[in-house]
Amino acid sequence: MLSARALPVPTAWSAPYWEASKNKRLVLQCCNACNRLIMYPKRFCPFCLSEDLGWRDSKGTGEVYSVTVQRTAAPTGFSDRVPYVLVIVRLDEGVQLMSQLIGPGADAARCGDRVSVDFEDISGTDVTLPVFRLDRAHAVANGKDNP
Ligand SMILES: [Zn+2]
Repeated sequence: MLSARALPVPTAWSAPYWEASKNKRLVLQCCNACNRLIMYPKRFCPFCLSEDLGWRDSKGTGEVYSVTVQRTAAPTGFSDRVPYVLVIVRLDEGVQLMSQLIGPGADAARCGDRVSVDFEDISGTDVTLPVFRLDRAHAVANGKDNP
């Protein structure tokens, strides 16, 4: 069965990101000319316009920069996930990405909470998405087991 959930459609320049995710690796695009990290994947460097881009493994750790809990009116394909937690994570490498926060304490997460990447295989597809979980201390402090 196909997922009704909106899923990424890899492009030539983002395919390595999604392939790495399938292999449970979070990678960051980097510019070989100016050595800056780029998130989300692009065809050329937004800083120096070089097309000489590569990939680096991320440590997969960072902190919650922004968080919201979707409790009602979920978009198509997400209604079975309510409540779910959307976050912008600032990785320790300095770039940010939007993702979901899952696991214990997620719905009580706060800005600044430490998180680590995990990966979610989307049922019925060959897509694996990077998601995040609170580090243990924050999960325990938040004291909840949902979502
Ligand atoms: Zn550059």
